[in-house]
Amino acid sequence: MATQLRVPTVPITELEQSAFCRTDESLDSKSLAEEFDAGVRWQKLPISYLKARPEELNIRITEARAQLGDRLVVLSHHYQRNEIIKFADLRGDSFKLSQYAASQEEAEFIIFCGVLFMAETADLLSSPAQKVVLPNLEAGCSMADMAHIDDVLDCWDDLQETLSDFGGVVPITYMNSTAAIKALCGRNGGIVCTSSNAAATFKWAFERGDRVLFLPDQHLGRNTAVKLGIGLDEMLVWNPFKPLGGHTADELKKARVILWQGHCSVHTRFTVAQIEEAREKYPDVNVIVHPECFLETVQAADANGSTEFIIDTIGNAPSGSVWAVGTEISLVNRIGQENPDKTVFCLDSVVCPCSTMYRIHPAYLAWVLDGLNEGVVVNQISVDDQTREEARVALNRMLAVV
Ligand code: SF4
Repeated sequence: MATQLRVPTVPITELEQSAFCRTDESLDSKSLAEEFDAGVRWQKLPISYLKARPEELNIRITEARAQLGDRLVVLSHHYQRNEIIKFADLRGDSFKLSQYAASQEEAEFIIFCGVLFMAETADLLSSPAQKVVLPNLEAGCSMADMAHIDDVLDCWDDLQETLSDFGGVVPITYMNSTAAIKALCGRNGGIVCTSSNAAATFKWAFERGDRVLFLPDQHLGRNTAVKLGIGLDEMLVWNPFKPLGGHTADELKKARVILWQGHCSVHTRFTVAQIEEAREKYPDVNVIVHPECFLETVQAADANGSTEFIIDTIGNAPSGSVWAVGTEISLVNRIGQENPDKTVFCLDSVVCPCSTMYRIHPAYLAWVLDGLNEGVVVNQISVDDQTREEARVALNRMLAVV
C-alpha cells in the first residue's frame, strides 16, 4: 500500500485564475508586455513579440500563415480569445479538434491553440510524421494539474490492494487529463470520456466491474453518476493527500463511484444564487450550464451539457429567447455575438476567462509561426511511444462505445 504522504499543493493555475478577472467586460488583447502585469506565468519569448501591439501581431500572423500555406492547420478551442479564433482553420472542443487533426494527414504541422492536454491528445491521434505545437507551454489546465500521475498511480495501487477481493475497479478519465493518465486507463481496462459521452462510458464500465474510479473532475463524475441513478451515499471523493484517499477500507468497499478530488476553476464559479438572480431579472430566462459545475448548480439549471451542446442549443433556440450561460466567458461572449436576435449573458457578472486558455496570446502564435518559416519547430508536444500506445487503447475504447 502506498503510504508516503505528499505535501498538499494547490496548482498555481488555480491561484492565477482570478488574475484575469475584470469587471469592465472587455477581453480585447493588449500587448503581451501589458498583459504580463496580470502577474501569472508566461513562457519567455523574444522581446520583439513581447512589445508588439495587437494590430502589428495581426499582420505578422497573417503573413506568416500565408507563407506556410497548406503545411499547417491551426486549431482553436472555443475558449480562445477572438484574436486567436479568427486565425483558426477549425474551432471546436478538444475531441472534435483532435479528430480533425487526425484527418488532416497532409498537414506537416498542427498548431493547437488550446491547453497542454489537448495538444497531447492531438499528438496521440495524429500520424508520427506530424508535429503538434502548443504556442505557449505555460498553457496548462488547472483541472488536469490536480491529477498528477504519481498520485494517481498511488491511488490505483491502493485500490487494487484494498478491493482486489471485492470486485474490480474500472478507471475512467475525462479527456481533460494528461496522456499519462489516459495511458493508465488504457493498460488497466479503462476508458476515456468527454462531457458528452460520460454516461455511456459509465454504463460500459459497470458492465466490466463493480466500481468506477473517475478522474480528474469530481463534478462531471458526480453529475454523471447522479444522472444514472447512483446515490450520493454510493460515491466518495479521493483526496490524494490522505492515506487511502481519506477513507477506511470498509468505506471504499461500499463505494460504487470513487471521484478524484479535482475540479475546473472556471466552472466551479457558477452558483445557485447566480441562477436565482438571473431568474429574478429575466423571468423567461433559460439557464444552461456545463456539467463541470457543482451538482446543485446543474440541478438548478434548465439544461446542462458539453460546450458543443450549449452552442447548438442556443443556436437553435427561437429568436427573442433569453439565455444565462454557465461556461467560459470568451465562448459566452462569442455565442452572444453570433446570436444577435437572442439575449445571451454569462451567469457570473465578473468577467473571468480561463486563465490558461488565455495564455495563448497572439504574440505566441506569431512567434511559433515565424519559427516554422525559419525551419525551427518551437514548443513541439510529443508523447513517448509507450504512453501513446496505451493511451490510444483507452481512446479507441471510447470511440467504440459512442
Ligand atoms: S475551462 Fe477548466 S477544464 Fe477547461 S482548460 Fe480551463 S481550467 Fe481546464
